[in-house]
Amino acid sequence: MIVILFGPPGAGKGTQAQRLEREKGLVQLSTGDMLRAAVAHGTEMGLKAKAKMEAGELVSDDIVIGIIRDRIAEDDCKNGFILDGFPRTVAQAEALDGMLKEQGLKLNAVVEMKVDDNALVDRIAGRYTCAKCNAGYHDTNLKPKVDGVCDECGSTEFKRRPDDNAETVAKRLEEYYAQTAPVLPYYAEKGVLRQVDGMASIDEVAKQIDAVLAA
Ligand code: AMP
Repeated sequence: MIVILFGPPGAGKGTQAQRLEREKGLVQLSTGDMLRAAVAHGTEMGLKAKAKMEAGELVSDDIVIGIIRDRIAEDDCKNGFILDGFPRTVAQAEALDGMLKEQGLKLNAVVEMKVDDNALVDRIAGRYTCAKCNAGYHDTNLKPKVDGVCDECGSTEFKRRPDDNAETVAKRLEEYYAQTAPVLPYYAEKGVLRQVDGMASIDEVAKQIDAVLAA
């Protein structure tokens, strides 16, 4: 199964993608995570992406399309994958169509997670991840079961993203409405666009996504 989780920063795409990976064996493909890894390793691509990411702007289509093209050709994607944060422009959506076609694959659903802008800033301000395994947490909405210990791997080190500050979040939202929201009609026309209430609790959103994917 191939699914796109779609929505603004802070909508809960990563949280739900990680859950789908755990529960359904679909691989989470987060272009944001891949770009952050490239920045951390100081690769040529990372160097190109770094300034854009810090400014809350989109990285060039060529770079992210290249990353996804290489990644979906890998063996672990054969049983299906969840795209989290890609596509973010109409050009990326068109390129994805081409790649899927080349590989004889079909997009099952684009799940739009609908959220209020006001909630996004609070959600983003409170989020952090395990420094070792990248499991996502939140100061109030999703705490580890044991305070300060990652549920998944037991690590006690956590990190926050440098672009999760109020100014950069405002820019990321602006980019979402200018460049990413226009992708929605593209998928609506193809008849694959579905919606869930991203304002509901994590468990409720999970139920809604599962229902959409089972339909
Ligand atoms: P995310 O982790 O999805 O919030 O992405 C973090 C940052 O990585 C974004 O603000 C962009 O700078 C960059 N990025 C991630 N995915 C894409 C994409 N599909 N197209 C362009 N830039 C991206």
